[in-house]
Amino acid sequence: MPRTEIKGRDLKGDPLHLLVEDGLILAVERSGDPGPCVLLPAMVDAHCHILPTGLDMAKPCLAECRSHADVLETVSAAAKLGEGWLHVTQYDQNRYAGQGHLDRWQLDSVSEGRPVLLRHANGHAGVANSAALEAAGITEHSLDPAGGEYVRGPDGKLTGVLLERANEAVTSSMPRPSLDQMVEAVARAQESMASLGIASATDMMTGRWDLEQEVAAYSKAASRPGSTRIRLYAQWSQVFGPRGIGAARFAELAQSLDEDRCKICGIKIFADGAIASATAAIHGEYLTRPSSGTLMYPRDRLQSMVVTAHDAGWPVAIHAIGDRAVDIVLDAFEATGEPGRHRLEHAMILSDAQIARIQADGCHVTMQPEFLLRFGEAYAAQLGPERSRRLKRVRSVLRAGIPLSLSSDRPIVPGDPWDGIEAATNRPVGFDPEENISLEEALGLYSAGGAQANGDRGGKFEPGTWADVLANPDGPGKGAPSQLWIGGVSVAGGSGAPRV
Ligand SMILES: [Zn+2]
Repeated sequence: MPRTEIKGRDLKGDPLHLLVEDGLILAVERSGDPGPCVLLPAMVDAHCHILPTGLDMAKPCLAECRSHADVLETVSAAAKLGEGWLHVTQYDQNRYAGQGHLDRWQLDSVSEGRPVLLRHANGHAGVANSAALEAAGITEHSLDPAGGEYVRGPDGKLTGVLLERANEAVTSSMPRPSLDQMVEAVARAQESMASLGIASATDMMTGRWDLEQEVAAYSKAASRPGSTRIRLYAQWSQVFGPRGIGAARFAELAQSLDEDRCKICGIKIFADGAIASATAAIHGEYLTRPSSGTLMYPRDRLQSMVVTAHDAGWPVAIHAIGDRAVDIVLDAFEATGEPGRHRLEHAMILSDAQIARIQADGCHVTMQPEFLLRFGEAYAAQLGPERSRRLKRVRSVLRAGIPLSLSSDRPIVPGDPWDGIEAATNRPVGFDPEENISLEEALGLYSAGGAQANGDRGGKFEPGTWADVLANPDGPGKGAPSQLWIGGVSVAGGSGAPRV
């Protein structure tokens, strides 16, 4: 590739010229004319779900619904359009004006006989209709799976509401996408991410259906020059579980990839659920039900899983939203003897003592500030205003010197990094403003922080790093016209493409 130059200015208005060769920044010059555009390192989304994002883009969505009637109308319209399973996204009972969960009989009335599953916006719960329960082999006699619940009414009958593993029991019986459908879905998600300025994204649970097939789909979709780079964390059971591919095959798979485009970074484990569904493992209880949430594994089991992955040479990233989950995750990381190799995902509720412990351990933490914009009401309903004020202590974690990145968890939320930056720099009403960070800090955590989380050399303007660059003619901001380069390849122009 020939040498090119990207000319612009930095956030202070000083000249910033990037000399680019073979996809890398060769030199950074800070003299000459300041170009018309502000140049920023492109965004890195270090925790999202890429294939599910692409698949969801083709599914009916309930994000705009504000009542049971709205939901039923949307499901009814979608049910008339096809046949077989109907998977609907962005269900959230917290948005339906005190009406609580829908039940399976309400869904049955609009399903046209099709199996229907509404997936909760937080991904940790769902509502199935009767046909979906039947297709998944769940009957009135079924026992709750470990780490999950088939919610029953006062009469003991299944309501169709599914929590955690009970939800997975239904999703796992849905037909899985073909390789071609996966490649198309990943490409769809990459395009959407590129349009938001994201040059590199991490799939934080590869192996929902079939690890090898998913890695093949990611690798193929990422081979297009200029497409969003893909980083992968594989679900623990898909590698080390009884039906997993095994450590040797997993290492072989990792070595077969072109790491610049698509890289396997490590292993993903869930330690608990989510606050909106009252399943994150917390100290204390939820206001909506007498529960302190769900630990997915007992302490000793989690520890042996982490040690197994660590001994095979892999960093482990663990989903831990509640403070009770964070405790046992840190125990497990410390049991490896090298806690600083591992990642803590979400860490929404942290005490000062836990922050000090994470700092001593040197673990990377990634947080999703956009959650505060989308789930604020649900958090207050589940935890009360005092506890929810202190969620996502970005400033405190940063001040402690803990390696930190900001990310989206898309498709749980729409995933525009500028929404995350807004929520991190100007926390919504109801959340402690003491935890706000500056724009420069937020931009860094969305680029260099994310690259660091993935063990990558991107996210900074330095010789030898990827030429992943975002240009905004009017300065950075949500919806601003922009241009993106990934590896020096120009891939996305907004309205008013900048002159550089
Ligand atoms: Zn996630």
